[in-house]
Amino acid sequence: MRSYLRTVTLDVQGDTTDDEDASASTRNVDVNAGDYIVALRPAVEGEKADKPMPRVWKVTSRNRTTVTARLEDMPHIKPVERTIGVSKILANLGPDPVPGNVYGTDLTARYMGRKKIDDDVTLHIFTKPTRENLESLLSGFRNVVRKRLEKLKITGILNENVVYEIRPKKGKAVGYCYISGNPDNPHRIVYCPEALKHYTAPHLIAHEFGHLIEWKLREYRSLWAAWQVIHTHTVYPDYVTSEDSKHLLSSCIAVRDEHAKADVPAKGATPTIRAWRASLEDEDKPKAAAILRWLHQHRRVRPHDIETLLNLGKDDLIKKLWPSERIETKHSIKPLLTEYATESMSETFAEALALSFCGKKLPDTVQKLLDKTLTTLREAYATEGR
Ligand SMILES: [Zn+2]
Repeated sequence: MRSYLRTVTLDVQGDTTDDEDASASTRNVDVNAGDYIVALRPAVEGEKADKPMPRVWKVTSRNRTTVTARLEDMPHIKPVERTIGVSKILANLGPDPVPGNVYGTDLTARYMGRKKIDDDVTLHIFTKPTRENLESLLSGFRNVVRKRLEKLKITGILNENVVYEIRPKKGKAVGYCYISGNPDNPHRIVYCPEALKHYTAPHLIAHEFGHLIEWKLREYRSLWAAWQVIHTHTVYPDYVTSEDSKHLLSSCIAVRDEHAKADVPAKGATPTIRAWRASLEDEDKPKAAAILRWLHQHRRVRPHDIETLLNLGKDDLIKKLWPSERIETKHSIKPLLTEYATESMSETFAEALALSFCGKKLPDTVQKLLDKTLTTLREAYATEGR
């Protein structure tokens, strides 16, 4: 795994001007190690000139006229350390600045350090989680998500160009996955420990992995299209076309014939109708329900009437009653996975992966597509993981 915490070799070009400034003026900035300060980024030879915009730094040590400070922009990804003349400090925010944004740096989430999750995975800490939350995140990662990735042989994803962070919750989101378009910058997965009130740690962790995988999945156009279809099923009103109706009637009659042949003992008031509905694919189930509802509303026949006609072999009569035009499956717009999965196609995929990692049963069509997706991506992660 590539390490983003490489040590920066300091190549500071003498701070003589700063020294002169300091001795020339009587300014005595009270600044100590651990303070957050605002200052321009000093130019370093061989480096492109930075925009003259004040930045937030954390002081790591101080001399009489200079301080050594770490840029607080992305200290865990691109650590930058510089010597800054004390006289060049524009403001000292102290060791515990008021939370908020200062010159584009969010001081609500200051970098507090890192913790190893596993040998090859480091968690960068930008918020103080409770001990319980931190432990459940670490164990969810090691004992559930990693084990699942190992079983699926896609641990290569851990070696993707990605860094892991915990940050305080901002707005509604409980986690993020920032995909980087620039190969020099890593993708970032952010977990908000407060989310553990509503989600289990493995769900939270696996969900964000879902977005990382989804980004790769988009390269496989037919697979991605199949996920689009699943998402569409979860949100848009669906119709039973006349083709669907015909096909569903044949499947219903086929179940009746099978029962008759096998001499299956009747269970319940409408054994054939029940067996037929149970035999259908997930996406056809709401269609069968819509047909039965329609038959009741428009033809005044109930499922047990259909059952009777089926048993009497009155197939022609059923065909006459059966809808021949398109009908709407009005009551079928219920989320296939979770309410959140209806948000977007990305969320459908991320939720499917998270639920499956947590051992929840998914609708058959979703599980099948997920299995196919992970098998297809296995190779991609196997080669890139090295
Ligand atoms: Zn998501």
